[in-house]
Amino acid sequence: MSVDANCLFCTIITGQIPSQRIDEDDRTVTFMDINPGSTGHALIVPKQHTRDLLAIGQDDLTACAVTAQRITRRAVQALGAEGVNLINCCGSVAWQTVFHFHLHMVPRYSDDGFHLPWVSTPGDPAAIAAAANKLCVCV
Ligand code: 5GP
Ligand code: ZN
Repeated sequence: MSVDANCLFCTIITGQIPSQRIDEDDRTVTFMDINPGSTGHALIVPKQHTRDLLAIGQDDLTACAVTAQRITRRAVQALGAEGVNLINCCGSVAWQTVFHFHLHMVPRYSDDGFHLPWVSTPGDPAAIAAAANKLCVCV
């Protein structure tokens, strides 16, 4: 498994930096975004350090997509989301700020006011934890 010591998400995956982890399988880890665009905003990442959509291998990309579907189902069932946006930012010009591939799973509610690009604002830790508890079934 390739890990980049200078990569924020690699240090989250290895546990050096804490996160609200809600899912893990052989290839992926999912944790809550600390600046959520909506209630339940989560980040799906491959364990293998990979810069972006152009660099990721097909097996990891497939694994991330399958995980995203699993977390989306939980968002609908456990959070009452009416829909979900899956978002990938590839490159600075496309708003990518962390250069370790990730999918944003943004649950959508009719009154959430979410729009692109969303303003990165720290979420209420208690509210993020409450959503994480509802989305988490295995870790
Ligand atoms: P990007 O802009 O690269 O598509 O998304 C990076 C995401 O990582 C942003 O939504 C940002 O809020 C999130 N983020 C940045 N730093 C941290 C952190 O330390 N912990 C967590 N859980 N998320 C982070
Ligand atoms: Zn990384």
